[in-house]
Amino acid sequence: MPDKITLLPDNIANQIAAGEVIQRPASAVKELLENAVDAGATAIKLIIADAGKSLIQVIDNGSGMSETDARMSFERHATSKIKNIEDLFHIRTMGFRGEALASIAAVAQVELKSKREEDETGIYIEVENSAVKKQEPIAAPVGTSIAMKNLFFNVPARRNFLKSNAAEMRHIVDEFTRVAMSFPEILFTLNANNQQLFHLEAGSLKQRIVQLLGNNYNAKLVAVKEDTDYMNIYGFVGKPETAKKTRGDQYFFVNNRFIKSPYLNHAVMSAYQEMIPKDSFPMYVLFIDLDPAVVDVNVHPTKQEIKFEDEKIIYAFVQAAVKHALAQFSVTPTLDFDLDASIQQLSSIQQPFTEERKSAAASGSIYKGFTQKHQAHFIEKTDRSELKHWKDFYESPETGVRSQESIQQPETHPTPHTLHLTPDSELTQLINTYITLPSSNGFLLIHQQAAHERVIYEQLKAASKDKPVATQRSMFPVTLEMAPADAAILEEIMTDLQQLGFTIEPFGKNTFVIQGTPADVEQGNEKHIIDILLEQYKHFSNEVKFSKREKLVRSLARQQAIKTGTRLTEREMRKLVNDLFACEQSNVSPDGNPTYLEFKQEQLEKMFGK
Ligand code: ADP
Ligand code: MG
Repeated sequence: MPDKITLLPDNIANQIAAGEVIQRPASAVKELLENAVDAGATAIKLIIADAGKSLIQVIDNGSGMSETDARMSFERHATSKIKNIEDLFHIRTMGFRGEALASIAAVAQVELKSKREEDETGIYIEVENSAVKKQEPIAAPVGTSIAMKNLFFNVPARRNFLKSNAAEMRHIVDEFTRVAMSFPEILFTLNANNQQLFHLEAGSLKQRIVQLLGNNYNAKLVAVKEDTDYMNIYGFVGKPETAKKTRGDQYFFVNNRFIKSPYLNHAVMSAYQEMIPKDSFPMYVLFIDLDPAVVDVNVHPTKQEIKFEDEKIIYAFVQAAVKHALAQFSVTPTLDFDLDASIQQLSSIQQPFTEERKSAAASGSIYKGFTQKHQAHFIEKTDRSELKHWKDFYESPETGVRSQESIQQPETHPTPHTLHLTPDSELTQLINTYITLPSSNGFLLIHQQAAHERVIYEQLKAASKDKPVATQRSMFPVTLEMAPADAAILEEIMTDLQQLGFTIEPFGKNTFVIQGTPADVEQGNEKHIIDILLEQYKHFSNEVKFSKREKLVRSLARQQAIKTGTRLTEREMRKLVNDLFACEQSNVSPDGNPTYLEFKQEQLEKMFGK
């Protein structure tokens, strides 16, 4: 019998290893961006074609590599970041396993250009299937450019496994966002299929958050900052009113590394308790810095999961820091700021953690933090009466039928005061266009579209006066290319649109990116909506008597209103009728047509010749 064991050739071993590190284009994006950060770059460009399936390129102005290092970098376990096991416990760089470039070179065609400041020429290397194809000196700027082409060209099974371009691109934007978020001092750009999706100037964390997550968070961010000897936390959380129905704008970084932690997420959520409706998600971008020795980032190969030496203390710390921040900015209603009893019992809170840290801990440490005034958990109770209960902000009238009093407004509405809409008033829809509603001695025939236009019009008017309409950030921003004339109009109404819930940003010549739409506009349809909106806006543009915003509000009302021919449920009819009669001027639509007609029994009898 011959012996059976053979050593796998390097390229196969690398391909297998690559499976863990590079699952999809976004994993390569993450690794390349992190390498650029580790190289000390101040400007990093990401270029994508075909959702990363044909090209992922990262260009940085970092340290660059020597000829030997450049060549070595593609070897498995080749790293400049650790030399021995001890280093692992002090690691401050993003990478250290020396696997990324080796993995990428095993599953793609890679072109590397690099030059160090001190070298006269740069180096160009082409690698494919883990083998160097070409190597030559070149002229290059200081820094490194790595282009990986045709990911998984030699592993068709994996290539077929990739999702649609839209899905893969979304993953790429997620990874880009995470890295860009944690290094606001670095300029980042993202270009996909020759369109610039992001251009993030270096700046403060706050600026970076707004650049990435949308302008609607501007002036809606509450700073979180607590320093102790054991760990520091800093960042921002959104004011309660910015909480969304979809999870999404939630970021935790530990030592600048993005992590997913349901446990810490829970800590933040619990800090918002009573301030936001159930099933809604506050925005947060929080950075925890602590001694790398007490964190094990090595648990998961893609390093999104993390183990803390003492999870509970971090939980308590995060929760308290967020509560503290929210309370300081008086955005909290009444809260019970006492630490959770079970957490109070924790030995780590009762006493300093180790003997060595004891003296340090007694002065200005987390120990003090948890026992003294002005620290995270210690917030004096505010007079309850000064603060509005959150329900006043969040409970909208749609949850209940309005009282009769609010429907009857005799001064402005001659008709509705004969109206007795009760929870069981019978509403009927006719030919999917009209709603009948009994009145004291007859009935009203309401035109659903005209009525809804009035309702939306008044809501938007109110919104454009003070509180802007809530924006929902698009999962994947849509790019719009416009005819020059339309582009000019859009440019002109952009700030007003922002107030009305549309976050649209100019993106070069006649091009715009829709970052967000009003929360109740269906996603995926943004382009169409803007097109219609512009059409309608042009329709009103002859009406010189209208202000820009008035035209816009009218266009939007017309666009968003329920159209004739739409079947309505009983609940929808009831809401519409309630909303209509809560309007300041319920009897006419914004363009002056009646919203309803009243038929009195005597009139009807006459018509029948009685
Ligand atoms: P790791 O980042 O874990 O060290 P990688 O495979 O990602 O491993 O990279 C291997 C080595 O190549 C790095 O340790 C670094 O020395 C070098 N390197 C990779 N990318 C760059 C870059 N953009 N600029 C400078 N050096 C780089
Ligand atoms: Mg790396």
